[in-house]
Amino acid sequence: MEKSRSEMIKQMSDPDTVWDLIVIGGGATGLGTAVDAASRRFNTLLLEQSDFAKGTSSRSTKLVHGGVRYLAQGNIGLVIEALRERGILLNNAPHLVRNESFIIPNYSWWSGIFYSIGLSVYDLLAGKRSFGRSRLISRKELIRRIPNIEQKGLKSGVLYHDGQFDDARLAVSLALTALEQGATLLNYFRVCGLTKEGNKINGVLAEDQETGARYTLKAKTVINATGVFVDEVLIMDQPESRPMVQPSQGIHLVFDKSFLGPHDALMIPKTKDGRVLFAIPWHDRMLVGTTDTPMNAHQLEPRALEEEIRFVLEAASHYLTRIPTRKDILSVYAGLRPLAAPQDDKQKTKEISRSHKLIVSDSGLITITGGKWTTYRRMAEDTVNQAVKVGNLPFRITVTKTLSLHGFKESMEWTDPFFVYGSDALAVKALAREKAEWKERLDPRLPYIGAEVVWATRHEMARTIEDTLARRTRALFLDARAAMDMAPEVARLMAIELQKDAHWEKEQVVSFMAVAKNYLVDG
Ligand SMILES: Cc1cc2nc3c(=O)[nH]c(=O)nc-3n(C[C@H](O)[C@H](O)[C@H](O)COP(=O)(O)OP(=O)(O)OC[C@H]3O[C@@H](n4cnc5c(N)ncnc54)[C@H](O)[C@@H]3O)c2cc1C
Repeated sequence: MEKSRSEMIKQMSDPDTVWDLIVIGGGATGLGTAVDAASRRFNTLLLEQSDFAKGTSSRSTKLVHGGVRYLAQGNIGLVIEALRERGILLNNAPHLVRNESFIIPNYSWWSGIFYSIGLSVYDLLAGKRSFGRSRLISRKELIRRIPNIEQKGLKSGVLYHDGQFDDARLAVSLALTALEQGATLLNYFRVCGLTKEGNKINGVLAEDQETGARYTLKAKTVINATGVFVDEVLIMDQPESRPMVQPSQGIHLVFDKSFLGPHDALMIPKTKDGRVLFAIPWHDRMLVGTTDTPMNAHQLEPRALEEEIRFVLEAASHYLTRIPTRKDILSVYAGLRPLAAPQDDKQKTKEISRSHKLIVSDSGLITITGGKWTTYRRMAEDTVNQAVKVGNLPFRITVTKTLSLHGFKESMEWTDPFFVYGSDALAVKALAREKAEWKERLDPRLPYIGAEVVWATRHEMARTIEDTLARRTRALFLDARAAMDMAPEVARLMAIELQKDAHWEKEQVVSFMAVAKNYLVDG
């Protein structure tokens, strides 16, 4: 039986409770840590200031990958670790991770040889967790698979396999797994201070963002898993802390899938200015990205810069015959990479390490940052091992290598619009049969129906219409205009479930529109 938000708050605020771990941040890193800790039977609380995956974890390129680029940089250790994690994740969440074929187009014979060799090494490094052998394909086969590819000067292609996923849905699955393992998780709960006994941290101050109520919570260990926000928590501990993170922004443009073929993704290892560009089929659309723009500030809702939009459009125009234009953009989204801050100010973000950093402050605060979605499980395992030492907790070995995540279901039918729910899909479909209006599509441009709104509110902790439109369904990312048109009906359905009034509905629509307009590009 699922616990309600109010039950969880009641349980959390019991003054006698001392948590083994309080995890601050509900992105990939924090959620993974909560799953690892709870499944090792530690008493675990996770607090997220906004919604789960509201930060970087819903804004990725959607790849579960070793990183072909890191291979080119010679970072073999990172690639091996990520390829191992890719295999583990496919085993544990086969309903959310799929094997995708990627094609690198070669416009010179030399690059055909170079990438064939490189990707054979990539296959070898994956060992028994390989997703399939890479191979050189002819120009003719490439054109058959991606008819819109730029054919001028095209010599051949290299086809390889990697993983593809739905990031925010994996976050939801991790949150539900953590709950099932006994953790307490609350979204819209911001940690606004740390409490100490002497100079050692012994808990946090947290504020319910819905009611403004404040709580003092006790813990043996506190984990700072706040992504690009880690420095804010480090400052709560030590006001003079040096910045650990330098945000780097990456954007994606979303187009109709007809610009690509139905199956294969396109990978450009080196654009004119030396960046990697992906064009990926995702939920019946094509995602194109990304950029790598150093930023001085961080925010929860970062906005794509005009020059980034122009860069992605321009880069894509070199590789596609029917060129996507501004008018074709269905949605644009931006995310911030929590890269380790450079020691030398002149260092560019591309060269800053992407492997994760785990540090323990003198106060006992454990901070985990960097890494990538693909390696979240390993990062979580390292973090909980560290918490065991810091908090003198009994050592128990991690079980997450083989822990099936919520919704686990093999042999998914990827054309089923409910596939992201995995084993819950049947229940969502059954819900749709309960009321005629729940069976209806919310907008003809997207497959989502009313029952999914009800499901997200009842079973997936959605609290706002943005939670439902951006991260339970992916409407905002797939077609921002359609999402805006769906907003009033989503507000109405959620208001019934959450017993909210007309004023709430109105406010929800207004605040959603303010966020959603950042996902639109003027024609
Ligand atoms: C453009 C881009 C593309 C990427 N593509 C890929 C990819 O294809 N594959 C891959 O493996 N990785 C990819 N990554 C990397 C991956 O997305 C990140 O490494 C990962 O999402 C980081 O997760 P996180 O939990 O550390 O941070 P976040 O997801 O940002 O989570 C941190 C959370 O902490 C919360 N928080 C902050 N302060 C507080 C507070 N005081 N109290 C409570 N909560 C707080 C925030 O609200 C936020 O939700 C990409 C990253 C970017 C930017």
